[in-house]
Amino acid sequence: MATGTKRDYYDVLEVSRGAEVDEIKKAYRRLAVKYHPDKNPGNPEAEERFKEASEAYAVLSDPEKRARYDRFGHQAIGGEGFTGFDSEVFVDFADILGDLFGLGDLFGTRRRSDPSRPRRGSDLRYTMSITLEEAATGIERKIRVPRLEACGACSGSGVEPGTSPETCPACGGRGQVAFRRGFLTVAQTCTRCGGRGKVVQHPCKACGGRGRVEREVNLEVRIPPGVDSGVRLRLNGEGEAGVLGGRSGDLYVVVAVEPHELFERQGPDLHLVRPISVYQAILGDRTTLKTVLDEEKELEIPAGAQPGQVLRVRGAGMPQLNSRGRGDLYVHLDVKIPTSMSTEEHQLIQRAAELAGDDLAPDEGFLQRLKRKLANEG
Ligand SMILES: [Zn+2]
Ligand SMILES: [Zn+2]
Repeated sequence: MATGTKRDYYDVLEVSRGAEVDEIKKAYRRLAVKYHPDKNPGNPEAEERFKEASEAYAVLSDPEKRARYDRFGHQAIGGEGFTGFDSEVFVDFADILGDLFGLGDLFGTRRRSDPSRPRRGSDLRYTMSITLEEAATGIERKIRVPRLEACGACSGSGVEPGTSPETCPACGGRGQVAFRRGFLTVAQTCTRCGGRGKVVQHPCKACGGRGRVEREVNLEVRIPPGVDSGVRLRLNGEGEAGVLGGRSGDLYVVVAVEPHELFERQGPDLHLVRPISVYQAILGDRTTLKTVLDEEKELEIPAGAQPGQVLRVRGAGMPQLNSRGRGDLYVHLDVKIPTSMSTEEHQLIQRAAELAGDDLAPDEGFLQRLKRKLANEG
């Protein structure tokens, strides 16, 4: 998409740069009603204005995209993280315009009364399940996608090779029929040919005139490091083929990260339960642990470590999506009390116990912590 010739989004919607969301919504609604393709059949300029307004609205109604646009202009929008419309935006359009035009997708996948008009192909959704390690390193994976592709026999036209569409008998090829209403002569789009002026008398035998056939394709998908469940990656134009020259839909790969047996993820941070001996807890220890990226990190257990104490290893968590940063690793200490000991060990512990005495003052802090924990869980 050329960005050099694009009009300023605020100019397109005829609002000031400081306009509130409501104002933007109202402005878009007004323009959308005026230029909607259903109201302006066969008027390419209106269609262009409608698309332009829709695009401006998609950006300016989203605080994040709007902020980026305010800072960087159109360049910001072609870049990372935003590649145009997405289906969330479609939902917004439907919300705004649904009561005016009837619910449905305004950008072509809705069934129109006119079957001979170019329609955009459907978007496809593919859920990809990956491990936490794969989410941390990022991966490339081949997937098989069944989808509708343009028919090879008729190149998607739906017309039997060797024949061509014929002049519409209803309108004589003009695409419009005139009728009188009172004093006025009104031109209306021809319903037989949908305004195209031609009708297909010999549909393609390979695809039954639909112009598309079902086929399975192999695609290579690159998953960047740091993805989390629910992240959607858009593969432009890899959805279903459009109809009669309409453009292809997009493929959305939705990531699902499987639970891990050791690590629990919390955004960019990871949590890990680490069993330690009672001696390590009493005396302290310098040991190591493995991160999700299989790096060896030093873990310093302080002398007098308590059961359940949490140690933070900075920068040992998940890589962050689209950034060099990394989350932290929280290590929850699980102090193991030995259940059997050698005689000598037992004697030494007994001796230590005698030296320490058995008077432990009641620990108010522990009780308070317990109460807080129960209250939080309740
Ligand atoms: Zn065909
Ligand atoms: Zn016609």
